[in-house]
Amino acid sequence: MKILVINAGSSSLKYQLYNMLDESVLASGRVERIGMDSSIVTHEPAGKPEARQVSEILDHVTAVRRVLEMLVDAEYGVLTEIGEIDAVGHRIVHGGETFKESVVVNQEVKLEIRRLFDLAPLHNPAHMMGINAVEANLPDVPQVVVFDTAFHQSMPRTSYLYPIPTILYSRHKVRRYGFHGTSHKYVSGQAADYLGKPIESLKIVSCHIGNGASCTAILNGKSYDTSMGMTPLEGLMMGTRSGDLDPAIVPYVMNKEELTLSEVNSMLNKHSGMLAVSGLSSDMREIEQAMEEGDAKAKLAFDMYVYRLRKYIGAYTAAMNGIDVLLFTAGVGENSSALRKAVCEGLTFLGVELDDEKNAVRSKETRRISSESSKVQVLVVPTNEELLIARDTYDLVKRKLNG
Ligand code: AMP
Repeated sequence: MKILVINAGSSSLKYQLYNMLDESVLASGRVERIGMDSSIVTHEPAGKPEARQVSEILDHVTAVRRVLEMLVDAEYGVLTEIGEIDAVGHRIVHGGETFKESVVVNQEVKLEIRRLFDLAPLHNPAHMMGINAVEANLPDVPQVVVFDTAFHQSMPRTSYLYPIPTILYSRHKVRRYGFHGTSHKYVSGQAADYLGKPIESLKIVSCHIGNGASCTAILNGKSYDTSMGMTPLEGLMMGTRSGDLDPAIVPYVMNKEELTLSEVNSMLNKHSGMLAVSGLSSDMREIEQAMEEGDAKAKLAFDMYVYRLRKYIGAYTAAMNGIDVLLFTAGVGENSSALRKAVCEGLTFLGVELDDEKNAVRSKETRRISSESSKVQVLVVPTNEELLIARDTYDLVKRKLNG
């Protein structure tokens, strides 16, 4: 079975084509600048040179058509015919309270995703354009939607409710949802497999730290609490997002600086976090480079980032009354040995002991970086959200075909 995984944004569309026989990636790529002039398609077929095309792509329907053309192209293609695509899986940011797991797309599912536009106004409408574009190009191919929020639907009320008037929850669904669920689910499963233990027997703190960052407490294989909230702004300090702060800052700053709601929203989402503190960059590589050159603001940004993450690890250890596995994933978590070392240095009271040599090794494989005597297994687990989307799509479509 061959499955196309799509992550549609408002002006971009990323894709990966999987052969589910061996879960290999046959091709991947992206369409950028959809709806603008000179859109770019970058196509990377396995074992062949990369192709790049610049042309006008006015909408998502055309973007999907271009992707399909690339997949069967005489020179860059990896399929003989489009009919080889058995199903399409989509990443959807917000599934609200409705979607506790992945589902096959039908009219009802589309309506519900539409109802959730309010909760993810930047993302869900773009995902819907992706679904409709696939429907227009491949009307007979089943589609599956996989939600970033679904894994966190297991959170108890104590974790997901905000201590504010309950009418805001009943009327407007103001609550914590959490994000990066597909990644946290994937990496915690990988960690359990790596350790050869049933996931239900492990207390896991999973740190997904990339441009966006979130930390999740996983108890009995289920999300028990997570640092992102109603939106992906809550929780850890991130590249450009503030993470947790006193909500009273918002009206105060709006008043003092005469900012509009949209300006303050943009400040907290796009101009805060490491970028704001360092005054330099949101990229951990540049922060580390500047630190090495003695930049004090970069060092402060790094230290705050580490401190806030360590506090969450401590909080989630308390929430679960223990921790067996601490795992790091995503761009920063997988690549920054300095960040991992700094975080773990303050966790010796839990019995966390890093093996510095293992921590320094670069690899694309899941690996243990704690010492033999560490009471907590510290792991680096490369995330692969697309693979989990492909697996869910495969399972659901197979089930559907088998009646
Ligand atoms: P992601 O959102 O998971 O793609 O992560 C992207 C972030 O990972 C980038 O902004 C970088 O800050 C970070 N990153 C990638 N490679 C490295 C590296 N070698 N060292 C430190 N940070 C890295």
